[in-house]
Amino acid sequence: MEPRIKIRPGIRGGFCYPKRGGVIIIINYEGQSFECQKGVKVYEIAKLAGGEAAVRALAAKTDEGFILGMSDTLDKGGALEFLTFDQEEGRKVYRHTASHILAQAVKTLYPNAKLAIGPAVENGFYYDFDMEDTFTPESLAAIENEMRSIIKKNERIVKMELPRDEAEKAAVSWREPYKAELIRELPADAVITFYQQGDFMDLCAGPHLQSTGRVKAFKLTHVAGAYWRGDSKNKMLQRIYGTAFESREALDAYLLTVEEAKKRDHNKIGRELEYFTTVDIIGQGLPVLMPKGARVIQLLQRFTEDEEERRGYLLTKTPFMAKRDLYRISGHWDHYRDGMFILGDADDEASECYALRPMTCPFQYQVFLNRMRSYRDLPMRLGETATLFRNEDSGEMHGLIRVRQFTISEGHLIIKPDQLEEEFKGCLELARYMLKTVGLEEDCSYRFSKWDPKNTSKYEGTPEEWEKAESLMADILDKLQVPYTVGMDEAAFYGPKLDIQVKNVYGKEDTLITIQIDMLLAAKFGMEYVDADGQKRRPYIIHRTSIGCYERTLALLLEKYAGALPLWLSPTQVSILTITDRADAWAREAAETLRGAGLRVQTDLRNEKIGFKIREAQLEKIPYMLVVGDREAESRSFSVRGRHGEGPGVMTLEAFIQKAVCEVQEKTIG
Ligand SMILES: [Zn+2]
Ligand SMILES: [Zn+2]
Repeated sequence: MEPRIKIRPGIRGGFCYPKRGGVIIIINYEGQSFECQKGVKVYEIAKLAGGEAAVRALAAKTDEGFILGMSDTLDKGGALEFLTFDQEEGRKVYRHTASHILAQAVKTLYPNAKLAIGPAVENGFYYDFDMEDTFTPESLAAIENEMRSIIKKNERIVKMELPRDEAEKAAVSWREPYKAELIRELPADAVITFYQQGDFMDLCAGPHLQSTGRVKAFKLTHVAGAYWRGDSKNKMLQRIYGTAFESREALDAYLLTVEEAKKRDHNKIGRELEYFTTVDIIGQGLPVLMPKGARVIQLLQRFTEDEEERRGYLLTKTPFMAKRDLYRISGHWDHYRDGMFILGDADDEASECYALRPMTCPFQYQVFLNRMRSYRDLPMRLGETATLFRNEDSGEMHGLIRVRQFTISEGHLIIKPDQLEEEFKGCLELARYMLKTVGLEEDCSYRFSKWDPKNTSKYEGTPEEWEKAESLMADILDKLQVPYTVGMDEAAFYGPKLDIQVKNVYGKEDTLITIQIDMLLAAKFGMEYVDADGQKRRPYIIHRTSIGCYERTLALLLEKYAGALPLWLSPTQVSILTITDRADAWAREAAETLRGAGLRVQTDLRNEKIGFKIREAQLEKIPYMLVVGDREAESRSFSVRGRHGEGPGVMTLEAFIQKAVCEVQEKTIG
């Protein structure tokens, strides 16, 4: 049968079939058919398709999943779906085209700049440049102007193909070493595509919009350093970030939400409110927790340790470092060495070499191994507030979210195989309880992180062992009705994980809590227990956290509450503000009484206007302000204000204590 292109019913699409003699039949979604020549352009099909496709299509997707530009041609059959800005793939083509316009503008203004890569990313695009001058806000404004003029010229974007050798020669002759390097790595018989707009040509796989004028609204947002190919051994390039939208209104609305997000960014408010700081001379990814930050983490830690004790966990305290031999047994030395801080010469076998621990597992196992264990000892739930060290890439550092040293509510459950489901459930319930209590539960999603059978060198164990662990975990998750997505190649090297993911204020997702099933490490460490029948058996291990890494949790809480933490977590809960120094004695006495009731109190007895004192306490996000003047001093009461300006008005000391203590005990949020 002659191939067809058919417009998919109900959506913007088409289905073509080429007839003999170089003709393609196009059927649109209303069932009308048209004859076209082979090599018909995608935009011509969009016109025939009519409707939204004719007006808004940015690209098209074949039923094999290829994305075609509107100027690409079609000579075989299949269903075709048109993509608009409403789809992620359509937005990518749009924003990627904007990145080429950026590159053209930079080359026009700085002919010596060398081009690296310029992909679309979530919410925008970037392009990496190697050049002497440093981009400044002024140069970004000039580049934006040049981009506007390129858009105004509405240059056609034309695709060209070259064999690999010629393509490499071309890149060398244009003095584009990064492009030449990329081309050299492609197979010798590859056909390389270039795209030309005006007098600017760029190596690219495409696709792009049809012309530069199709980009309606864009903004360059910032510049950052980025290593060529993300490798710190390579040269540092300058990366210009930008974004593009279909309309000025949509762009402005997006920029406004980013501004709002910035106000909640823990990296900004956490520093302004003095929860933490970073110091160059200490190092990247090594934040200093200041009194407020340290206090919140202490509160979270007490809460976690008490809750774990209530649920049958035993507390351990193990060393921060160990000889490399320990990590050899655990597999960290083979699978995780790049992520570890090594003390000594890793390659010199004759001398002692230590490493800071990236995980607590092999340390806590020693507790189990201390003597022969029986089935009666299981489940053994070991918990530890553990400080860990991971040598993350410096480009990845971000405030308290991505750090090189952190403290985590670590724990390992050593269990009989038949206890797996019950204990896994217990871990999940504990994690959910913690998240709910701090108010993050509604922002979480679940990811079932599996290994990648094509990337086995990253992992311990055999395909059969992985198959068993993953299917057991899938069964448990289904039974518990956990709605999850699958993360391929995201497993730990010793087993699959359930990751509880939380998005930060910019929408970037990170793992907060993880629960992992491990059937491998017990054998490596020779862990066994005597079962009821007298036989020695291998335990299973669950690796888990209950509230995750404290620094990251603090960051997410600061963002969630825009710095106004719930009363039970606020470093200072109450500030007593005097209107006149005649109220000082009452303020001091009341503060002592409140402290005696377990509340964290400060007094502001300065000779300042009360409006000024209130404003300062509000900026500090202190939950309760107790204002005292002559009248309050006389009646031993306060005028109580919340940090958002709300009541509840005049209260006696006793009534306020009762209210506040109850709120703390119940861990009220919001
Ligand atoms: Zn491109
Ligand atoms: Zn572990």
